[in-house]
Amino acid sequence: MFKRIITALLYMLPFCIYAANNHSEPNVRKDPLPGTVALTFDDGPNPVYTRQILAILKKYNIKATFFEVGANAKLHPEVVKEIHEQGHVIASHSMTHPMLTRISPSQLKNEIARPSEIIYSIIGVKPKCLRYPFGASNEHVRAEIRAYGMVPVAMGFNSFDYERPGTQKIIDWVLKNIYSKQVILLHDGYDKREQTVAALPAIIEGIKKKGLGFSTICSL
Ligand SMILES: [Zn+2]
Repeated sequence: MFKRIITALLYMLPFCIYAANNHSEPNVRKDPLPGTVALTFDDGPNPVYTRQILAILKKYNIKATFFEVGANAKLHPEVVKEIHEQGHVIASHSMTHPMLTRISPSQLKNEIARPSEIIYSIIGVKPKCLRYPFGASNEHVRAEIRAYGMVPVAMGFNSFDYERPGTQKIIDWVLKNIYSKQVILLHDGYDKREQTVAALPAIIEGIKKKGLGFSTICSL
């Protein structure tokens, strides 16, 4: 009898650990709502392109999620404020955009904590998610992000806008692959993003034409 109870408890252990881990993550939405897609912008903020993107989102009355690099947020706090004031979600994309899998434990802690502190000092709200750069993560990286009280987020559907292949190519590629609950990865910083800005209205119109709406991730 005793042995049976022990065996049963051992079987339950992984589920208990899973539940405990899940419980420690903040209660945020990781997937877009059914019937919607999530527009996400990485690598900003940038005073030129982020503002152009904000103007387009405002015109269509759409909220998006911005995964910001801490160093860029520090350089352009006024842009961070504008994104927040216009009702978009601000999340983290590390401090200096390294491969989180290839840095020392102390560097990793810094890459996770600093952007969060910087964003908090600007808007008074801590980001709830961290999207790891280059889609590079492992168990250790994700555990460290969770230990800091944040949710690790993967890349999302790659628009390849950062390769700057031409506006029409970006539009066609995204619209060809669109479906409900898709997270779309676009970029508003680091490099020239004029093609992303030019493609955005047609991407939005195309998504609407397919009968899909928009929602944010990393929001409550
Ligand atoms: Zn990035």
